Amino acid sequence: MTDARELPLFDSGPDPEISRAEAGPRRTTSLHARHSPLAAPTAQIGVLRDLDLSAEPFGGDFATAVRINGCGELRADAIEIFQINLGKLCNMTCRHCHVDAGPDRWAEVMDRSTVDACLAALDRTSASTVDLTGGAPELNPHFRDLVDECVARGLHVLDRCNLTVLLLPRCRDLPEWLAERGVEVVCSLPHFRQRNTDAQRGEGAFTRSIEALGRLNAAGYGHGDPGRRLTLVVNPVGAFLAGEQATLEREWRMGLARAHDVTFDRLIALNNMPIARYLEWLEDSGNLESYMGLLLRAFNPGTVHGLMCRNTLSVSWDGRIFDCDFNQMLDLPSRPGDGTRAHVSELDPTLFVGRPVVVGRHCFGCTAGCGSSCGGALDTPAE
Ligand code: SF4
Ligand code: SF4
Repeated sequence: MTDARELPLFDSGPDPEISRAEAGPRRTTSLHARHSPLAAPTAQIGVLRDLDLSAEPFGGDFATAVRINGCGELRADAIEIFQINLGKLCNMTCRHCHVDAGPDRWAEVMDRSTVDACLAALDRTSASTVDLTGGAPELNPHFRDLVDECVARGLHVLDRCNLTVLLLPRCRDLPEWLAERGVEVVCSLPHFRQRNTDAQRGEGAFTRSIEALGRLNAAGYGHGDPGRRLTLVVNPVGAFLAGEQATLEREWRMGLARAHDVTFDRLIALNNMPIARYLEWLEDSGNLESYMGLLLRAFNPGTVHGLMCRNTLSVSWDGRIFDCDFNQMLDLPSRPGDGTRAHVSELDPTLFVGRPVVVGRHCFGCTAGCGSSCGGALDTPAE
C-alpha cells in the first residue's frame, strides 16, 4: 500500500537530521540493518518455539495456561482502543525495542491513503481512544493531520513518544501543539537514573529525555491537568520483571523531581517482551531460557481479563490488522469471524468482536507478575 514517493521527508533514504541526532559512540543498529536472521518474525517465533520449556509450568503453552486457570479461550470484546502504528522509523535504536525500529526503517512508514483508511475505519468502530505509536509516530509526515482528524472526532488521542524526538528541529513546537489539542503524551523512560536509561537507549538519551520532559512541563504537561496528561512508561533494564507500579511511581516521582525538577502525572510499568531486539539480547547474554522460565512461573491469571488484545485493534504501517502491537511485530494477523486476513480499508468491526486472539509463547510477557499492557499493570502479583 505504501508509495515511498508520498514521503517527502524520507524518499531519498536515511534522514540526515535523524542520523545526526542518533550519532553516539554506543549506537546499536536494527536487526534489519544488520541483516540479522532474527529480523524475520518467523525466526523469532522459531527461537521461542524451539526452547525446551517442558519442565516449566504449562509446558510453555500460553493457551493451556489461560485455559487451565479457568479463563477459557482468549477472545476479544468490543473495540475500545484503535491503535495505529505509523511506522518503524525512529530517531533512536534502543537495545530492547520490540519493533526493531530505527533510522534505517524509513521505507516502512504509513502513507496518506492508509491514514485515510484508518480514519474511515475509526468511524465504523466504537473506539473512544486512538493510540498512535511507532517507531516514533511524530516522524510520520501525516502525524499532525491524523491527530487533528481524531481530535475533531472527539476521540481521546495518545501519542507514544520517545521524548528525544521532541528535540529534533521539526518537532520542537510539538509540546505546545499537542497541549493545545489535549493529546495525552505517553513517554518512555526506562529509568530515572542516567546510567540505566543510557544502557538501554544509548549514551546521551537520558539527558535529552530530561530536556524533553522539561519542555513538556513548560507546555503544561505533568501538572495534574487532565487535558495535558503526561504518562511515563518504564520497563526493566535487564532480564527481570517490572516492579510494582505504585512503588515505582513514587520512586520515579521523587527521583526526577529532586535531581531534575521535572514532573509527570502517572507511571505505567511494562515487562519487556521476548521478541525482536530484546530477544536478541536475551540470547546473546545467555538469559533467554531463564527469562522465559521467569515469565512462565510468574503467570498471573488475574491479568487475563485486562489484556490489551481484548479491547484493542492494532493497525500496521501498511494497513494490516492485528490483535496487538506485539503480534504485529511477529507478523501474526488477527483472525476475524469470517476467517479473512482483513485490511483496514475494509474493516468490519462486527467481525472482530468475539474473535479468538492469536497467542504464542511471547504472550507470557503480558501475564507475568502484575501483568503488562499498553495501559500498564493489570493486577496485583500472584501469590
Ligand atoms: S523502543 Fe521506542 S524509541 Fe526505542 S527504538 Fe524502539 S520505537 Fe524507537
Ligand atoms: S502479546 Fe498480544 S495477544 Fe498475546 S497476551 Fe499480550 S496483548 Fe494478548
